[in-house]
Amino acid sequence: MATSIPRRQFIQHAATMAAATASVTTTGRLFAEDSKPYDDMLVIDALSFGRDWGEEVFSALRAANYSGIIESLPRKDLQTAIDALVEWQTRIEEHDDHLTLALRADDFLQAKNSGRTAVLMNFQDSTMLEGELSNIDALHALGMRAFQLTYNFRNLVGDGCLERTNAGLSDFGVEVVGRMNELGVLIDLSHCGRQTTLDGIAFSERPVAITHTMCDAVRPGHPRAKTDEQIRRCAEKGGVIGMIALGYFIGPDPGGDTSIEHYADHIEHAVNLAGIEHVGISTDFPPQGISPWATYDSWFVPRTEFFKESYQLRWPPWIPELDSTDRYRNLMRVLERRGWKTAAIERLYGQNWLRLFRDTLG
Ligand SMILES: [Zn+2]
Repeated sequence: MATSIPRRQFIQHAATMAAATASVTTTGRLFAEDSKPYDDMLVIDALSFGRDWGEEVFSALRAANYSGIIESLPRKDLQTAIDALVEWQTRIEEHDDHLTLALRADDFLQAKNSGRTAVLMNFQDSTMLEGELSNIDALHALGMRAFQLTYNFRNLVGDGCLERTNAGLSDFGVEVVGRMNELGVLIDLSHCGRQTTLDGIAFSERPVAITHTMCDAVRPGHPRAKTDEQIRRCAEKGGVIGMIALGYFIGPDPGGDTSIEHYADHIEHAVNLAGIEHVGISTDFPPQGISPWATYDSWFVPRTEFFKESYQLRWPPWIPELDSTDRYRNLMRVLERRGWKTAAIERLYGQNWLRLFRDTLG
């Protein structure tokens, strides 16, 4: 009989049960699939580069919860590129408690499981090929897994986005695309000119990446922005378009009116065009941000010599909420306020890149 439980014990038991039920309910509300903690997610920044690689960068990678980055290596000529790849192999071996080499998609999952960051070795240009197709094989053998067909300027492959002309891929460029497809090297079209971008998508048999860009519809007239057509075509091919977090690319006033909300606007515009499976994230600056080390003289002045006025350089170049290692936690709050579900944020933050790496690198 129930009366065999003394009344005081029964009340205690009932209180425990009620507490347990409340806890389940609370836990259910907090941690249902609708709100997975940021730190449990696979986060891949599709263009990030350490500044003075060392403990400061490693702790920033951990604080930002980056399981993977696409790194930008020096590419002036073939020898520079070879030296850079060898130097990186050594760096990764010496710091294998923090870093691991990304040669295939699963390396990003292993990095996540072991609390490290997978580094995908990439060049932001194809000048290091020196016009020789076989150099793709040589660099691939040394660990290269991605490169951009062109940077801002014209090269033997095609026109970059700052050229006054708009030629597409050269015949050599078409061959380069074919060899990248065969070897499993990811094609990046971020800094390519309009027609080179469209040709790169059309001639590739595999999906391609635009790792760090923004939407022309949201930031009209900037040469680094991609048009709706380019974004749509890239997605139709199975590619992924990475939305860049660099302030003056997002909008004209990164220290003032241009905010993290505008970053979310670029992301949502791209998702509306391409679908949630084809948009990712990238910063285009070190994991610790720009503000901790950059000054007007050290950052802004030298870049005015290098970039045309159409690049619309600004000082300061960063958006404060995106410059700290909390950048993608901050963005997650913005997206959740806009009604984004966890599954969509996980795709944006890393799962789409992972799928693209599977389809290209293997
Ligand atoms: Zn770039």
